[in-house]
Amino acid sequence: MPEVVITTDRTMMSNHHGKEFLGFVATGPAIGLPEGLWLWISSPKPKILGDGEPLEAPYGLRKVEASLIKNGIDAKIIDPDYLGKYAEETKVLMVGHHDFFAYGPPSNEWWLITGREPINRISFAKLMESEPVRRMKKNGTKIIAGGPAAWQWLYEPDKWKRWGVDTVVDGEAEKVIPSLVRKALKGEELPSYLYVGVKDVPLLDEIPEIVKPSVNGLVEIMRGCPRGCMFCSVTLRPLRHIPIEKVEREILVNVRAGIKRGLLHSEDVLLYGADGVKPKEEPVIKLHEMALKHVEELAWSHASLAAIRYAQEKYKLISKIMEMVKTKQDFLGVEVGLETGGIELAKKIMPAKSAPYPVESWHETVEEAFKIMHENDIIPAVTLIIGLPEETEKDLLQTIELLDRLKQYRSLIVPMMFVPMGALKNKEFYRREMMTDLHIEVLYKTYQHSIFWAKDILKKYYLKSPLQFPLRGLLEFFIWYVERKVNSFSEELPILSKEGATT
Ligand code: SF4
Repeated sequence: MPEVVITTDRTMMSNHHGKEFLGFVATGPAIGLPEGLWLWISSPKPKILGDGEPLEAPYGLRKVEASLIKNGIDAKIIDPDYLGKYAEETKVLMVGHHDFFAYGPPSNEWWLITGREPINRISFAKLMESEPVRRMKKNGTKIIAGGPAAWQWLYEPDKWKRWGVDTVVDGEAEKVIPSLVRKALKGEELPSYLYVGVKDVPLLDEIPEIVKPSVNGLVEIMRGCPRGCMFCSVTLRPLRHIPIEKVEREILVNVRAGIKRGLLHSEDVLLYGADGVKPKEEPVIKLHEMALKHVEELAWSHASLAAIRYAQEKYKLISKIMEMVKTKQDFLGVEVGLETGGIELAKKIMPAKSAPYPVESWHETVEEAFKIMHENDIIPAVTLIIGLPEETEKDLLQTIELLDRLKQYRSLIVPMMFVPMGALKNKEFYRREMMTDLHIEVLYKTYQHSIFWAKDILKKYYLKSPLQFPLRGLLEFFIWYVERKVNSFSEELPILSKEGATT
């Protein structure tokens, strides 16, 4: 039995049917479907190897596991359904999450719009109140929580106390976690909140390589981001490019375990090996050649619109990469940030988002990048934030104008309400009562756009194998249901003229 058990709730411990994007379904409450079906769409149970160890586990948990194992600590990731087997002997229970309490985007806007708690929040609370976790606590197990959503515990002091969480670790954990766990194993006093400052952030050679497979073959190629947007916490971290040999070894950990998918994780995949914000051709090509040698299917986590435009204009790099990718698959999925169409707002809060192009030409950069992706079968899930501090009516009108220009490009645009993070962490959360007519119009346009393109994507690209037909049917039903709701909602609101609606 391991001394240290690492786990998370079902919405995280899943491979989401091999489609990372379906994991986002868990950020909302069950809409138009029973909760069990909703959870099955977003987070089916993973394959279990024996004794409750999942075949694939979230990459962040794998990094923590690797760090502990490397430091001689007996640690194992266990699926939440199997914690009962470990309840008597576990000395330290570690829980990680991207969004413990659903305060992050896009959970918080689903919550705000529907007035109902998202599934990920409910699921995490169920884990912490489950019989095995309560039994562990009664037996004196120390509980350590961490991950990108660590900050959310500060807004939930009652649950922190009620669930007996001893320490919350905020920041990159690999370097600090072995000594913290050793302290816990020895029964020494633990800090209640451990913020990982710059001096404790691991250097490249201090980042351990995963030793067991990650969900959907996710491997990290970079950490940090040079663009410095004020609302983003990534920007507080130093920039590190993971050497290609290290990335390859992690891909091979996955491939040898039968995970033939690869998901390259970076805040901007096209900046791999770049100096600053201008992509370079050679490192990006080499990275893709290496990855495609091993995997049967590839995806990117994030790319910036400016890098997409620059890479194509300077090197035709997007076409070259997609030519390679299309030897294996029809399309490539990625998340990109549009955030705002307000030029003055962009100047204030994300002045480098458009670089190397001037921020004044943000609309051209966005449209050009959308066009490049559309023509090359890259399907972006695009984030757009409303309620940013200092946002004006003019910014919202410019956003609406930009959304109109983007109608013709295949994409899913996901609106998000402002959550105070990064340099703006002391600002106010966006609340329902702050919603203006222009916010409603922005939301309406994004829903119209995304519903139109979701149908197209489902028809042409997604879930085409017969085995995936039930899942496909449920998604089609969900899109139909949302479309009906959005249409009936729009009829009640005079601000939303049908003529102005997209698509
Ligand atoms: S480009 Fe994206 S990851 Fe980079 S600082 Fe801006 S929001 Fe954060």
